[in-house]
Amino acid sequence: MSGKEIMSEEKFYFQSEAAELLRMMISSVYSNRDIFLRELISNASDALDKRRIECLKDSELAENTKPEILITSDSEKKILSVSDNGIGMSKDDLIAYLGTIAKSGTKEFLKAAKNENAENELIGQFGVGFYSVFMVADKVEVLTRKLGSAETYKFMSDGDGSYTIEDAEQRPECGTTVTLYLRENKNPEDGFKDYSDEWVIREIISKYSDFISWPVVFKDKVLNSQKAIWQRPDSEVTEEEYNEFYKHLTHDWQDPLMHIKINAEGATNFKGLLFIPSKAPDNMFMKRESEGVSLYINRVFIMNDCKELIPEYMNFIRGVVDSEDLPLNISREILQDEPVTRVIKRSTQRKILVELKKLLSSDREKYIKFWTAFGGLLKRGMFVDSEHSKTILEISLFRTTHNDEWTTLAEYESRMKPGQDKIYCLIGNDNISALKASPKLEAFREKNLEVLLMTDTIDDFMLSGMGMNLPETANKLVNIARDEVSPYSEDEKKDNEEKLKSLESEFESLKKKALEVLGDKLENVRPSLTLTSSPACIRESAGNMSVQMEYSFRAMGQNPPVQKRILELNANHPVVKKLLEMSKVNDGKVSDILKTLYDQSMILEGVTPDDPADFVKRIDELMTLALVK
Ligand code: ADP
Repeated sequence: MSGKEIMSEEKFYFQSEAAELLRMMISSVYSNRDIFLRELISNASDALDKRRIECLKDSELAENTKPEILITSDSEKKILSVSDNGIGMSKDDLIAYLGTIAKSGTKEFLKAAKNENAENELIGQFGVGFYSVFMVADKVEVLTRKLGSAETYKFMSDGDGSYTIEDAEQRPECGTTVTLYLRENKNPEDGFKDYSDEWVIREIISKYSDFISWPVVFKDKVLNSQKAIWQRPDSEVTEEEYNEFYKHLTHDWQDPLMHIKINAEGATNFKGLLFIPSKAPDNMFMKRESEGVSLYINRVFIMNDCKELIPEYMNFIRGVVDSEDLPLNISREILQDEPVTRVIKRSTQRKILVELKKLLSSDREKYIKFWTAFGGLLKRGMFVDSEHSKTILEISLFRTTHNDEWTTLAEYESRMKPGQDKIYCLIGNDNISALKASPKLEAFREKNLEVLLMTDTIDDFMLSGMGMNLPETANKLVNIARDEVSPYSEDEKKDNEEKLKSLESEFESLKKKALEVLGDKLENVRPSLTLTSSPACIRESAGNMSVQMEYSFRAMGQNPPVQKRILELNANHPVVKKLLEMSKVNDGKVSDILKTLYDQSMILEGVTPDDPADFVKRIDELMTLALVK
């Protein structure tokens, strides 16, 4: 102490969500309590990483002691402590990091954990971090001094909703000591271990923390091998070790879907250990800073979330890249222009695609999991990565009218009818079952032609070409909503043209009326040759922007030109037959029915009627007519 008076203890209350999480930890009967130690060691390791980085930036901050994580225990008093000489915490840090929960997913977590079973399951899956200590301790003390600061603080809580912070005697060095006053072992049958016992501690550390790159010292011995897991031969690392490392790295609670090892030797040397998570990050259980790929240089952690190493369309990849060919003091700015970075990026990109392709042929089920989570993102690569667009298209999966499964384009092609040279697609921004009910499919179904069902905005861009340099196969993709796309052979088309001609006069007055009422939206109204059971559908004239694209532009706040479309009517449908008759005698109801048919067709395209109130009014009138008459 520097003659300064010790501040009297200050009391704080945990943020309500934190308090709730604490309550859960204390009452938890979750059987895998061991993970609390993994969390503490992980935090200590992160703190040492952060300190190293700070010292690189400012050599004045460097201290002489060896960085390490020190475990001590007292099995008489039932005390366990984990100590590090890492970055430490200021008073504000203590309040911000331990008094509140920064993780964005906490609310969702608490919502999901409505009953005890769900609670226990979630605790096991969710990286509950620091709070997990309350599964095993009655009281926790955190003594910490931040790098570059002289003040040491003591944080104390017995998990009852409040905590105290007070000034403490100065720690000789920056860092943090977390001391647990272990809970009495009331019921050994419920798997409650004595966490002050040497062998219990050893076992947990070797299971969960072996790869931690800083020494974990217990009774003057280093317990962990500290071997960078990506430096070890693949054959020597168990899947469980990879999974634990992934969880440490990402704070994700689930096992990854797969890992990818890269071992590049040549002009540029680097090793990579990349993971594909098993679920899309809704950021629910993930911390922002631990996203992306971390860069290590010669086994030394340099930075998290290194965007320069991975293209944006592969943002779902997590992991580590370690190279000897970059200078230790590299900054993000320099990294961008570093040719080595570009080489690494190119080869990781290629390797990831190769592995995905392999997965597609070796484990379809797993691949579908991957695709459902990240396919939408990966497909974007087709537009930005001309070198790999062909591969990306090859490993893209689509929904189809063929069955309820996913299909690749190659599989579709293998099922094509003799003479069929197009891959038929239907776009919608709605769900698949809505798409399957589209009237546009009627003629294709009748002709036994398979149609791919697409719901991504990006698919629409793919189909329209949009001036991009897409691979050959993409040119075969055609949108069946387009006027020029038809399921018919040349002969059939000729017949159809004749049929259309013969119906022209029949449709004349209806068409005139339709263009009068809907002229701002329609360029033509005509008999349909493709509808077999529905009364009407929308068709795109050549060169038009699709309904979905037009509306997704509008949703983005842009204002594309109004696209005039074609309304096709099924002349065999009783409603249309009647309508044709009515139009000839200039019946007043014709315009309302036309508007309703148009609105209905747009609804099937996924678009709400321009004037929903008017639409509902018209439907009400029709129901009244049908029911009350
Ligand atoms: P997480 O580690 O997932 O962020 P925790 O609840 O375990 O969640 O920790 C919250 C924060 O508290 C950490 O992100 C870190 O900023 C801080 N913290 C925890 N332990 C330490 C430590 N030993 N040294 C420095 N900071 C720490």
